Amino acid sequence: MHNNSLLIRNVRPLGRNATDLLIRNGKIAAQGTGLDAAETEVINGAGQLLLPGLVDAHTHIDKTFWGQPWQRHQAGPRLIDKIENERRLRRELNLSAEVQSANQIRQAIRMGTTHIRTHVDVDTEIGLSSIEAVLASKETFGDSMTLQLVAFPQSGLMIRPGTRELLEAAIDAGADLVGGIDPGAIDRDPAGHLDCIFDIAERKQVGIDIHLHEADQLGATSIELILERTRALGMQGKVTISHAFCLGMLPDAQLGELITQFQALDITIMTHGPGHIAFPPIKRLYEAGVKICAGSDGIRDAWGPYGNADMLERAMLMGFRSNYRQDDELEMILDICSFGGARVMGEKNYGLDTGCSADFVLVDAQTPTHAIVSRPPRSLVCKAGRIVARNGECLV
Ligand SMILES: [Zn+2]
Repeated sequence: MHNNSLLIRNVRPLGRNATDLLIRNGKIAAQGTGLDAAETEVINGAGQLLLPGLVDAHTHIDKTFWGQPWQRHQAGPRLIDKIENERRLRRELNLSAEVQSANQIRQAIRMGTTHIRTHVDVDTEIGLSSIEAVLASKETFGDSMTLQLVAFPQSGLMIRPGTRELLEAAIDAGADLVGGIDPGAIDRDPAGHLDCIFDIAERKQVGIDIHLHEADQLGATSIELILERTRALGMQGKVTISHAFCLGMLPDAQLGELITQFQALDITIMTHGPGHIAFPPIKRLYEAGVKICAGSDGIRDAWGPYGNADMLERAMLMGFRSNYRQDDELEMILDICSFGGARVMGEKNYGLDTGCSADFVLVDAQTPTHAIVSRPPRSLVCKAGRIVARNGECLV
């Protein structure tokens, strides 16, 4: 080994022709066949499929039960049942958000994820403790995982006085974005809620990523209010609407009008392919040029038993729920689970081109679609030029 360099022979980037990849100082320094291997560690890629590092652009790593004894899931059906159940379990289990977030990060690394945007609970009961815990994990993992934190008022904002100040303090402490949640359904004060988070975002010069589960016209109205504020404050390119279930429920003409505004205001839509409800028509948005990213959402937490922090599995779920059967469609989903997420996280040197940061994953699959449907173990995961997982085992 020399100069932090690594030569990976015989890999097929996104299924294209086989090539060698020379990694130096954290970057893809060269690619081509028969690259010089002098004084360099060489790995035989054996013709495996090379994918860019996967991007989980929406999850909740502070809350997972990963690595803990199984918890029976028995929360009621409504959103508020789940929020209250979670608050109760949080008190009873008293898990360390630092340990739990590290558990999920390691699992994500095993699965080939190199970037995570996580929403971290901030409320008047726990204050900034989860933010501080996840920031500590971010420090621990350093270059092994790119981590963005959204300060997230899970329990409501206007209905819990003191939360606004905590969100601001979370940004000051190091959170990257300000979050929000269902301004109409939870806070019952859509304008107040949105004015509050846009005000924080503007003053602190950070982006916004808001959870919007609201259905039908309630959701559409909230989106209109979000768009209004994005336009008024010149926050183009800095706003993500997560879930946006209502986009899967609106009349076609109304959806078309919103898509035009998403394009104009450079809004990103996040979906995780939910099992229980309509969700954004991915292909329609993607083909219109609207930015889309994807995430696991919560895994193995008080909200539900599902999830493996595996973005190939997520891609399969999104494709399955969308009834996408063509390779083109699943390649689009993979693009959303990689480049789409990197874009929303503002990564400039992401990808498999020479000069990009060496963030990638190697799998024994023939094509990207084959990788999504078969989800083989990740044989090699490289982050910033360093091997962070091998044969399904996390090395950090
Ligand atoms: Zn979420």
